[in-house]
Amino acid sequence: MNVQCQLCPKQCLIKPGQSGECRVRINVDGVLRTVVYSYPCSMHIDPVEKKPFFHFLPGSKTFSLATVGCNLHCKNCQNWEISQANPEDSEVVFCPPEKLVELAKTNQCTSLAYTYTDPVVYYEYTLDTSKLAKAAGIRNILITAGYINKEPWKELLQYTDAARIDLKSMSDDFYRENCSATLKPVLDSLVLTKASGVHLEVINLVIPTLNDKPEQIRSLVQWVKANLGGDTPLHFSQFYPQYKMQYLPKTSAETLDTARQIAMSEGMKYVYIGNIASVTGQNTYCPGCKKLLIERSGYTVLLNRLKEGCCPDCGEKIYGVWK
Ligand code: SF4
Ligand SMILES: [Zn+2]
Repeated sequence: MNVQCQLCPKQCLIKPGQSGECRVRINVDGVLRTVVYSYPCSMHIDPVEKKPFFHFLPGSKTFSLATVGCNLHCKNCQNWEISQANPEDSEVVFCPPEKLVELAKTNQCTSLAYTYTDPVVYYEYTLDTSKLAKAAGIRNILITAGYINKEPWKELLQYTDAARIDLKSMSDDFYRENCSATLKPVLDSLVLTKASGVHLEVINLVIPTLNDKPEQIRSLVQWVKANLGGDTPLHFSQFYPQYKMQYLPKTSAETLDTARQIAMSEGMKYVYIGNIASVTGQNTYCPGCKKLLIERSGYTVLLNRLKEGCCPDCGEKIYGVWK
């Protein structure tokens, strides 16, 4: 008997013995099963800035994990060796949810990060771990493309403290041609996340010739401001040629600076540049008095002047989770 997966907008109809497009959800005798539950392929301790989160517990460590598989197939994926891998070909370890929570605690991590590939495809593992972590005082942060159906997303958000979601382009064609996905479900996930009160940061990877024109950047920024608010931290990240997109050059510093200028001119308050050295593009400035609030170098926080989430000079409240 075929089964239909309802987790993401692909809604795969899966034949017995076969998997869905993400490779990790399988029809076993007419029952849909996840084969990656409790079997991560990557575990690391990272600074939360590496995700990147710039307005969520700055300077904290996060216990990061991933399983293999992804429901997107981005031609520029930097983690393609695990995101596009078959579970049977991968090296994994057994690590059930309670063990993950214990590992976060013993390594003095304030959060668990579901990252590298996409927690959407290891949904049940993420959900169960998140419930245990929340009860144990460990925060849960999701790094995702946001390609998921509304009902499962709403359920997971109940246990989520922060989400960093990619907005790759405002073009549905871009999503179809480069990621094997579509735009609208991503926009819906972004809106749902912000409306739910979960801390949200948005990232846009700027790819030469594909989404780097000033008018493309402007339309993305205008959508973010109108639908998520001008206080949403927005990261423009440098593309680096890899996987199936080695024919394009890396993004120039000028293009990233222009993107940041456009976003700020449209009224975005916190705009950052990532994957490339940038002095002003890594720091947080007060949108009220313009003074430096958080100084960063790479993933390191050099200075944090915030007082209870506010600017110490003018008292402006800064969007984020600070303690
Ligand atoms: S999560 Fe995987 S199996 Fe389910 S619909 Fe999406 S791609 Fe298909
Ligand atoms: Zn200020």
